[in-house]
Amino acid sequence: MDIEFSQEDLDFEKEVQDFIENNLPKGMDLWTKRGEWFEALRKKGGWDVSKWPVEFGGPGFTPTQRYIFDNEMAKNSTPPQLPFGVGMLAPILMNYGSKEQQDRFLPGIRDSSVNWCQGYSEPGAGSDLANLKTKAELTEDGKHYIVNGQKIWTTLAHIAHWMFCLVRTSSTGVKQEGITFLLIPMDDPGIEVKPIITLGGSHTVNEVYITDVKVPVENRIGEEGKGWTYAKGLLIHERTGLAGIQNSVLALEKAKENASSIKVGDGTLLDVPVFKNKIGALEAELLALEFTELRSLAQVSAGGDPGPESSIMKLKGTEIQQRISELNLESSGIYAAAWGNPVGPAFAKGATSGYLGARATTIYGGASEVQKDVISKNVLGLG
Ligand SMILES: Cc1cc2nc3c(=O)[nH]c(=O)nc-3n(C[C@H](O)[C@H](O)[C@H](O)COP(=O)(O)OP(=O)(O)OC[C@H]3O[C@@H](n4cnc5c(N)ncnc54)[C@H](O)[C@@H]3O)c2cc1C
Repeated sequence: MDIEFSQEDLDFEKEVQDFIENNLPKGMDLWTKRGEWFEALRKKGGWDVSKWPVEFGGPGFTPTQRYIFDNEMAKNSTPPQLPFGVGMLAPILMNYGSKEQQDRFLPGIRDSSVNWCQGYSEPGAGSDLANLKTKAELTEDGKHYIVNGQKIWTTLAHIAHWMFCLVRTSSTGVKQEGITFLLIPMDDPGIEVKPIITLGGSHTVNEVYITDVKVPVENRIGEEGKGWTYAKGLLIHERTGLAGIQNSVLALEKAKENASSIKVGDGTLLDVPVFKNKIGALEAELLALEFTELRSLAQVSAGGDPGPESSIMKLKGTEIQQRISELNLESSGIYAAAWGNPVGPAFAKGATSGYLGARATTIYGGASEVQKDVISKNVLGLG
């Protein structure tokens, strides 16, 4: 295993750093001028869709270049893209969609003019996703599916134009084989979106009710009954992304800065041994996780795939995100109870919502217990 960067990789790292230095809008401009930033990335040679292959307008980065690119972007807190179109549906369209579907949907995904949401989970079908019941029946003329059912926890469904959706087209035989992948417009009168307000007080997830929605067969990806196969391939990559290692490195630095602004005795909270121990443990675990990511990268660069190690990264990466949010809560002390009102140090304003919001990280993208199952079977070989 070789986890050293080559000179070529180091040159590429410098190129990305220079590009960010010269093009990333500064301060508040970051939000008002984000369109210009994405345009500069596009002009650079498909850097706006960094994970897309060359034939679809992406840069065709090697796995190592992709790692370097993602790290530099995270380090500089560059504006993120919504993941559902660019990161999740696009690879499925590229691998399994028809040429017509690619031409129809990829441009809107790329320029963010069309928002997508992911309609997989249902009441009774989360960890056991193959249990999903939303039913799609083919009309007699074979031209449409009539879809009925309910999705839940659908992130950003309230601003989505379309939903990519797993539906049941057969209830006989193996559960996984009766699942089909459909693209459903959210402006259909049979779609009703109801908000779910989460513990952190924000509205990002929803219930989606689907009643007699008529979907043309042209909106089916690939073959009927193969949706599970199409959806499954992506999960490994989704999990790796959810580890958010570089974001945690930055967040931990910020947490240390926050703690060092709180006076305790003659020093600061950062000098208190119990607090210091927590920081030290987190730094060590983050470093270990970074090396796990590099090991997985070396495997991918040598022609393999990320494999079940992605479950280790999802499990540990999200636990670390939660622990960092706990440190911020601790540093905020009593002011965390003010719940978003600006009293006490500035960082205390978001501490409670950050802490509560982070509870979800060990649930979405596959709950921690499920990742432990994958690790015990496929990494440790335990039955
Ligand atoms: C903030 C947020 C955003 C989300 N966004 C989306 C989205 O955009 N689209 C979408 O489709 N879904 C989304 N989800 C749903 C998410 O994928 C599911 O919540 C997740 O898969 C868990 O399913 P569940 O909620 O049904 O819990 P369950 O599967 O019922 O699990 C309940 C508990 O039982 C445990 N458990 C379940 N099975 C096992 C097992 N075999 N062994 C041991 N323990 C087990 C779980 O770990 C968990 O602790 C989102 C969820 C959240 C919280």
